[in-house]
Amino acid sequence: MRKRFELKTDNDIRKMRVAGLLTAKALGAVRDAVRPGVTTLELDQIAEQTIRDGGGIPNFQLVPGYYHTICASINSAVVHGIPSNRKLEAGDLLSVDCGAEVDGWNGDSAFSIVVPGDTSELAVQRQVQSDVCQGSLWAGIAAFAGASRLNEVGIAVEQHIKSKGPYGILQEYIGHGIGRTMHEDPAVFNYRTKDAGPKVEAGMCIAIEPMITAGDQQTFIQDDDWTVETMDGSDGAHWEHSVARHSGGIWVLTEVDGGKEKLAPFGITPISLD
Ligand code: MG
Ligand code: MG
Repeated sequence: MRKRFELKTDNDIRKMRVAGLLTAKALGAVRDAVRPGVTTLELDQIAEQTIRDGGGIPNFQLVPGYYHTICASINSAVVHGIPSNRKLEAGDLLSVDCGAEVDGWNGDSAFSIVVPGDTSELAVQRQVQSDVCQGSLWAGIAAFAGASRLNEVGIAVEQHIKSKGPYGILQEYIGHGIGRTMHEDPAVFNYRTKDAGPKVEAGMCIAIEPMITAGDQQTFIQDDDWTVETMDGSDGAHWEHSVARHSGGIWVLTEVDGGKEKLAPFGITPISLD
């Protein structure tokens, strides 16, 4: 029996857009602050301030046992890294995940970045890995625009990654539905599954979030009970957007332009409900 999940009305989605834009604003402020010497706790404070100034609640703080606004995962940490006094170094591969809740609706988004100032081959490889992960996210979003069954997203994500090199795709961590809470059904896989997944229809709102490694896909959870780290020490990258299928088409809720620029190469035009 397939789990049921809530389909949102166009009006619900307009409210989710507010939360999505505040999430984007917080992540933009964090991105602008990334430089060698900055700690991930400082980045966390920037994100929290931006969300609270915008009238939102950092929804990561609504997750039991989590007390920060962002997750900051460096190098061999893929996701769920806890902000700390660790100073960023040039060439670090940093992934930042963040979400805001506004008026009871949620946004969730993530980006990866190579900390500027390092021109080594390793830094170049890290940038390529981040680009592959970001590319797979947009391939998944483009697939969602026309999908009839949800696993078409996972197939597109996986195909993009596999076409770019021998990257590992995390299996235990996947995307999810989003709405009144940050994590809802349905599950959004980053790879082909036996089950084609639920029917895609207007009102489906999901967070698509590929997580890839430069080596093996196996991970473990650090002693802090949160940080997901690669077993082989290879680097991890993570990109995420919250996306809605509504009555008129697709809309990327956590992207300022709704996904216009990044979906253009796929011949897809997002439709605003503004
Ligand atoms: Mg997230
Ligand atoms: Mg998420």
